[in-house]
Amino acid sequence: MPQKPASMKKSELLEEYQSLAIREANFRTIAEFSPVMLWMTDGTGKSQFFNRKWLKFIGLTGKTDPGGAWFDALHPDERKHCLDSFQSAFKAQLPFQMEYQLRRFDGEYRWILDTGEPHYDENGFAGYIGSSQDITERKLAEKTLRHSFAELNRHDREGGLLAEMSNCLQVCRSIDETYPVVSLYAKQLFAGHPGFIGVINNSRSLVETIVEWGDAHDSETVFNIEDCWSLRQGRPHWVKNPRQALNCWHIKQDASTGYLCLPMTAYGETRGIIHLQLPTQSSQETEQEKTFEIIKVLATTFANQVALALSNLKLREALQYQSVRDPLTHLYNRRYLVESMERELARAKRNQLFIGVIVIDIDHFKKYNDTFGHDAGDAVLRAFGELLKAQTRREDIPCRYGGEEFVMTLPGIDEENLLRRGESIRKSAKQLMIEHRDQKLGTITISLGLALFPMHGQTLEQLISAADTAMYQAKKQGRDQVVLAENHLIQ
Ligand code: GH3
Ligand code: MG
Ligand code: MG
Repeated sequence: MPQKPASMKKSELLEEYQSLAIREANFRTIAEFSPVMLWMTDGTGKSQFFNRKWLKFIGLTGKTDPGGAWFDALHPDERKHCLDSFQSAFKAQLPFQMEYQLRRFDGEYRWILDTGEPHYDENGFAGYIGSSQDITERKLAEKTLRHSFAELNRHDREGGLLAEMSNCLQVCRSIDETYPVVSLYAKQLFAGHPGFIGVINNSRSLVETIVEWGDAHDSETVFNIEDCWSLRQGRPHWVKNPRQALNCWHIKQDASTGYLCLPMTAYGETRGIIHLQLPTQSSQETEQEKTFEIIKVLATTFANQVALALSNLKLREALQYQSVRDPLTHLYNRRYLVESMERELARAKRNQLFIGVIVIDIDHFKKYNDTFGHDAGDAVLRAFGELLKAQTRREDIPCRYGGEEFVMTLPGIDEENLLRRGESIRKSAKQLMIEHRDQKLGTITISLGLALFPMHGQTLEQLISAADTAMYQAKKQGRDQVVLAENHLIQ
């Protein structure tokens, strides 16, 4: 209350009081009708005043205690934090700001920024005067911005990982080499989503798991192609809740999580699937739905890259196979023999090792063609090819040299063993029973010429020539026999 100056007259005093009352009334009107939510507390924190805007916001009529209503309208998760902040502010008696969620008259929680300024009377600190501002829109904008930044970062990171994987896959030389690469990147790209990659086997009947990450225990690891809806339909099969959906048969009965099966397709051919476990989703969770859509896009890109790499490698393997194999017998061809023998000869020279060369010619082969037809002749060649394959060690190279002539090279063999191997092949050829279209083609005999590096030649050409000469010697001497080069007759 203003001090009464001793010299003041009564009329002056009255005037002073009147003007004070007007000013107070004006301030009250301003506070009451302010477009900003205002409030005031006493020095203990007890609420003293809330303006109309504030009461309207919370939906209060004049009768209810606004302090209690404020507490009730606070978001339950934030009551403690708000009270703690309030108490610290009263202790410090300093200006403060506090953000929290408050339930509006319509039941919606809004973000509020409270700004409090301490006010004083003649006894000192008398409480806080403050404003409450609805900052929900700003908060949402911030969240969207944060989300966009996170999205950008995630996008960058995933793009980087996919590019890295693609580079690694491009330099893989075999399908087996791709498995650790795929597994490594799948673990990083789909962290938190266990899954596997299943590849369709060569007979195109089964899907076999080649890599697995996380603990994808909801599915079988080997299953029929028909057991997966995504493979049947050639499009992604996304199950949000396995208890309320059409499940793939490869999913175990007790599986409780959602999942996504995506076919891996390249050049129009499906190579397999990528399977990802996803947390089970209820229909309202749009935020989660958005996340799943992102995973789906990522998984599709991933699946396409892996499928492309697998297809390229399959193609390369097929071309490589064709370029080094004889199509009739599937033995190596002459080109492969020449290339690999260059390497073998260099190694043998370096390590002072022998290399055996066997030239084989089927005796009177023309007879089979003439008697049973060309197809039957082919069947004989195929059967002899099988026999030769069965007679090889890992390091040997069995090759169809041309027509009914075969060459086999045997690195690291000595003369005695070379002769033994030649004999063994000759004997087994004699026992070969060949049937073609239910017709017995009789037996075959073969003539074999042997040569040994370094004794009979330094190059493949010289060695084959020496072995060839020995083989003709065997023919001359009655066929069905083994001859070592330099006319060294064995039988
Ligand atoms: P020899 O005991 O002196 O070796 O007699 P041969 O009948 O085996 O020898 P010849 O060289 O006269 O005949 C080889 C035959 O092999 C001639 C050719 O028609 C046949 N031939 C070559 N390549 C193939 C093939 O891919 N399939 C079939 N069915 N026959 C082939
Ligand atoms: Mg011949
Ligand atoms: Mg022949």
